[in-house]
Amino acid sequence: MNKYLLKKMTFALLLALLPLLSAAASLPDIRVLATGGTIAGSGASATGSAYKAAVSPVEKVIAAVPELNQIAKIRGEQICNISSQDMKIEYWLKLAARINQLFRLGLADGVVITHGTDTLEETAYFLNLTVAYDKPVVLTGSMRPGSALSADGAMNLYNAVAVAAAENSRNKGVLVVMNDRIYSARGVKKCDTINPAAFADHENGPLGRVNYGKVTFNTRPDKRHTYQSTLKLGIFAATLPEVAIIHGYAGINPQIVETICKSGIKGLVYAGVGNGNPSEEVLTVLAKASADGLTVVRASRVPDGPVTLDAEVDDAKYGFIVSDSLTPQKARILLMLALQKQLPKSEIQRLYFEY
Ligand code: GLU
Repeated sequence: MNKYLLKKMTFALLLALLPLLSAAASLPDIRVLATGGTIAGSGASATGSAYKAAVSPVEKVIAAVPELNQIAKIRGEQICNISSQDMKIEYWLKLAARINQLFRLGLADGVVITHGTDTLEETAYFLNLTVAYDKPVVLTGSMRPGSALSADGAMNLYNAVAVAAAENSRNKGVLVVMNDRIYSARGVKKCDTINPAAFADHENGPLGRVNYGKVTFNTRPDKRHTYQSTLKLGIFAATLPEVAIIHGYAGINPQIVETICKSGIKGLVYAGVGNGNPSEEVLTVLAKASADGLTVVRASRVPDGPVTLDAEVDDAKYGFIVSDSLTPQKARILLMLALQKQLPKSEIQRLYFEY
């Protein structure tokens, strides 16, 4: 082939590729931070319930959904590869530090975190309080492994990337995308152990929908979050103060509560019955622990509704804090972060109402 013809063909090829290249260049940069879970899991049979979570590396999870490349420039990173019942504060700190760094350095327009569904809501709320930027951070997972019939992971990941890439997802705090719904980190919880429609926010409902990547928001979160947070971590934070949760029940042995209060913990979330009520005997133990310096938060074992100040319990008298509508597991996260900042009780109470 002569030189002239070769040059002409190269030029024509470049011209043909140009729209594709410029379309790719204008796609948002979305970083997928993988932590494991069923979305990275696999089972031996498409119809059997037995499977192992957290077996596939991030590259494989992303490669299983090549359609992602049509809506974003995707890069993956492995933060850890665990079932989320093994989630640890150490991984939360690593996630928060990496997300803040990606946004600070302008390396991502949005972040998607793939996560086991068991503690997904806790990681979401932790990041809601510690990511200092208004760019989208979206958590997703799956209830069925990729090997199952009607697996939900691929569409959940596609939809999560679409939400992270959407301009109107900014400034809404950390989001959770599961089963075509978009939820805010504060209110969302896992409400079913096995169904793909496992997540719900009974108090506020979903913020919106995502249908085959088409994002629609109906409302926005009414609480403060992310870049507005006063709980942002210092870059040297290596761990957080120990906070325990006790689940109340009829006939609870107060000595068990006393033992936990005296175990060296810095804070306690008591998930009481009803409006966060402890029994009379437990109240005596909690009142003493509070007077001795333990920060006690009253939450509830009831799935919905707020725990309110000074209803059946005289919180002002005992120096207790109430969790508002945060679940006990999320109330624990806020308390760990507030104790790390050494905030006074009145300030911590304000945070429960605002975040
Ligand atoms: N227990 C596992 C986890 O939370 C599997 C649950 C899931 O991802 O759906 O990682």
